[in-house]
Amino acid sequence: MQLPICSFDAKTGILCPKCETKLKNNHITKSDVNISKKLSKLVDKIHELDKTTLIHGMEVEGGTVLVMSNGSHDKLRKNQLLFRQLENELKSKLWITDIKTSNRQVLENIFFPAKILTINVVWLPDGSKLTKVIVPGRKTKRFPLNLKHVKKVVKAVIGIELLIEFERT
Ligand SMILES: [Zn+2]
Repeated sequence: MQLPICSFDAKTGILCPKCETKLKNNHITKSDVNISKKLSKLVDKIHELDKTTLIHGMEVEGGTVLVMSNGSHDKLRKNQLLFRQLENELKSKLWITDIKTSNRQVLENIFFPAKILTINVVWLPDGSKLTKVIVPGRKTKRFPLNLKHVKKVVKAVIGIELLIEFERT
């Protein structure tokens, strides 16, 4: 598994001078380092991690966010059993998104398993903008996501403010 730090550093828990410099220069964050260490311990147990790349790891209110190489969402998030195992091992709620190819793709990854009907940009009178996501159907008790956390995760990954509405009220 490729990580933001050397795999040797992730295993031993001690950063080499090169990675230490990356951390000092803010090319990587403390969260990148922490999450790299945790994931490197799991590779032997969870083989699906093996051919993936962690680009960034983030710790936000609402859980741990893994921004990964393309295809990782399909491999790690859509497999329910595997995903549960990852959450249990990391002792955190987990969000996985492929590295950005478009905001829409990131949003779809974060909202999974919920679907997105439409995405619109809404301009506010003060010139700032919000991105409005409309979820199909109406909100039921079984809706799988905490919307407050979804907003925090999206803000952390692509830096946009979300407004989330349901198609029917
Ligand atoms: Zn290193």
